[in-house]
Amino acid sequence: MKKLLFILLLYPLSAYSQDGQKPIIDMHLHDYTEQTYFVAPASDGTMSPASLAEFHEQVLAIQKKYNIVKAVVSTIGGPNTLQDDKKWIPGYYTNKPPTDTVAFIKLIESGELKVFGEIGAVYGGYTLSHPDFEPYLDICERYDIPVAVHTGGGPPNITYQCCPDFRLKYGDPLTVEDVLAKHPKLRIYIMHAGEVFYENALRLMLQYPQLYADLGVILWVGKQPMDYAERLLRQAKEYGLIDRIMYGSDQMVWPHGIEKSIQQLDSYDFLSEADKRKIFYENAARFLRLDE
Ligand SMILES: [Zn+2]
Repeated sequence: MKKLLFILLLYPLSAYSQDGQKPIIDMHLHDYTEQTYFVAPASDGTMSPASLAEFHEQVLAIQKKYNIVKAVVSTIGGPNTLQDDKKWIPGYYTNKPPTDTVAFIKLIESGELKVFGEIGAVYGGYTLSHPDFEPYLDICERYDIPVAVHTGGGPPNITYQCCPDFRLKYGDPLTVEDVLAKHPKLRIYIMHAGEVFYENALRLMLQYPQLYADLGVILWVGKQPMDYAERLLRQAKEYGLIDRIMYGSDQMVWPHGIEKSIQQLDSYDFLSEADKRKIFYENAARFLRLDE
């Protein structure tokens, strides 16, 4: 009974799904516009849904099945296309520094931007420490808007496709350090927890106790990033950093990535149930200050 009471205190009753599935917060979801949505096979061969409408339907169904109660969503190529879902916290996708501070503040004041990110600076040849990001980070600090920055690599060959300025080295979490030094009050999380640079992610988190990380695509997209995820989590557990690691799916155009990433995180036997609850829900609820 004591244990039940404790659980009830931690999670409001409404957060439970009907079958008792515990709540999850997805810190890394993507949406698309009709112009940017694309159909392609995932790394496991699964095709993405044929249309944006079907994509939305499948994402919402999986969110319901797994009791995903909140999701930070950044839409590639524009404003979020599914604004009527109360679960979705609007992010702001960009590869480079925005160019209009007045418009940026307007988005914050209207509630259309609640998280600045995903910032895929690495794809545009930038790091978050580039001076052109500075005014926007100032605004985020002033308005207490969390910042979400991509760390780690990207899909193979991307330098020869969309993104000639992409460089792996820009994905190193240590490139975020100047921002942490200048903005001690800024709420910030490094997406994909550094991926190949996971050791630098852990080192940076030890150095800066306000820094959080999400797991994102490293939980499901392929053998190599999944190796990094496991090593990162084992070391995070040893170093006492589990309290600042958050679940994120980074499903892109593949809704089944949400399911795969949840199952992968659930499968780690070196994490306790309490660790998993922290990663799936509690850390993100604290970071996002959901109780406010
Ligand atoms: Zn992403």
